[in-house]
Order: sequence, then structure tokens, then C-alpha cells
Amino acid sequence: MIVIESAAAMQQQALAWRAAGEEVGLVPTMGAIHAGHQSLVSRAKRENQRVVVSVFVNPKQFGPHEDLASYPRSFERDRARLEQLGVDVLFHPQVDQIYPPSFRTQVDPGPWAERLEGRSRPGHFAGVLTVVLKLFEVTQPKRAYFGQKDIQQLLLVRQMVRDFMLPVRVVGCPTVREPDGLAMSSRNAYLTAEQRAAAPALHQALTSASEAYRSGVTHPEQLERQVRERLGQVPDLAVDYAQVFSEDTLERPQQVRPGDVLAIAVKLGSTRLIDNVVFGADRL
Ligand code: AMP
Repeated sequence: MIVIESAAAMQQQALAWRAAGEEVGLVPTMGAIHAGHQSLVSRAKRENQRVVVSVFVNPKQFGPHEDLASYPRSFERDRARLEQLGVDVLFHPQVDQIYPPSFRTQVDPGPWAERLEGRSRPGHFAGVLTVVLKLFEVTQPKRAYFGQKDIQQLLLVRQMVRDFMLPVRVVGCPTVREPDGLAMSSRNAYLTAEQRAAAPALHQALTSASEAYRSGVTHPEQLERQVRERLGQVPDLAVDYAQVFSEDTLERPQQVRPGDVLAIAVKLGSTRLIDNVVFGADRL
């Protein structure tokens, strides 16, 4: 595995692979690599001749009161883990490689970015799509891998790819969980022991909503209420949203259909956690 820090050198490598007919799979991350990221990398390895993993904590997707400064960074450990997985290039740019002082242009993510995550995190998805578009240009991927844990991000990237006719296939990958059901996340490291012990409630609440749907409950509000009530029992936890939406509109449907999503965001102490369930899917 080679580590590339320069955006120009990365693009040169990617264009050389393209000229040689080699397909690139890209896994964009913010580092603090865990088993969720690793599952994306393993899939990328199976489906592409070359795999690039980017590790870049993107300042544009953090709000002014968010955790940019404290976001977990563990580059040497990440490098060792990615090397073991057989990654070809670890792209690890400093901020000025992606956003030099002359940088001006931003992607406008459109109305879907105002909902759900976007309500609590204004500007977040403009930052996400801007860096993803840039990473696509720099690494020239045939396929790019995103986790379903960040389902709104996945849907917005898909929409950008359609809207701009980008020659990239966006591959959504299932959420990898701890044995007790907590979705793996770099931010889980912020949790105190008590909060960590309480955190599986997110998955439990989603699982019971999924079971209620299976047993015939199809009213979105009823399922949302059930989740809020379950989460309301957890000390130190505040629900930001619990909302059912259809993947193709991001609107709450009249009746839940297979493929609709229930997404939640909570603050457990000062840590923001998100998770979701797709109704009618075999797995969470
Ligand atoms: P992050 O480093 O948190 O920006 O995540 C990088 C990529 O990994 C995103 O596409 C995430 O959706 C994905 N990801 C994060 N956590 C998980 C997880 N538990 N399971 C699957 N994918 C994940």
C-alpha cells in the first residue's frame, strides 16, 4: 500500500490506472477505521482491481459548534489496518490539498439537504457533497462505497451522481454493528461507560418498530411514536428526530411500504448518534 498526500499525485495515479483499463473502487472515510469501514473496503476489494481509501476529516461538513477539533484521529493505526486489508492507495491529504486558499466552488445539495440531519446540521450536506465530488475527480472511481448507517448521505450522493451524470456507481453497504446492536461509529469512542451501556437502545427501538411493522402496523406516526417512547426511557438521551421516509422522496409516506426507512438521531450526553432501519428488509 502506498500513502499519497498530494491531490495532484493521487489524480495522476488514478488516471494512469484508468489508461491501463484498471477499475478503481473508492471508500471515502474520515478515519478512525472500524469494522464498518472495513466491510466497505472488503467489498471494494472484491469488485475492483484497485482500491483507494481516503482518510480526510472534512472541515466543510462540520458546523461551528460541532466536534471537528476533537474528532478521533488515529492515522498510524488506520494505516496498519488498511494495509492488512490489501488497499492499494491510502489517500491522506492535508486540508490545504483539498481546499487551497484559492478554493471557491461548492455543491448545492438541493432541498433534501434541509431535512432530517440537515435540520440540525445546516451546511453539512453541502460540505459532504463538495468533498465527495472532489474525491471522485481526484480518484476517478468506477464504484464508490457508502454505508447505509448514514442513509441520507448515501441518498444525496446517489442524487448528485444522477443529477451530474457522474460515471460512478454508488454502492450502499449494510450497517455493521457491535454484538449488542450498536451501530459502529467513530463517535462511539466519545461515550462514557454508562452511555455506552445505554446506547444499544437505539437499535432495540428500531428493531421493535420493524417488528411492529411486520405484525401489521403501517402508520408512520405510530411507529415513530413507539421509537420515541422507547428512547424516552433512556437517561441522558434526547431525541433529535425519529422519522419515517420513503427513499425516493425523503417525505413521510401515508402508509409504510417495504423499503421505507425509519431514521433516528439522538444526543446521548453530548454525543450525537444516528441509526436507521429499512422496513421489510431481512437485516437491520
Ligand atoms: P465516516 O468515516 O464516519 O465518515 O464513514 C465513512 C463511510 O463508512 C461512510 O460511507 C459511512 O456510512 C460508512 N460507515 C460508517 N459506519 C458504518 C457502519 N457501522 N457500517 C457500515 N458502514 C459504515
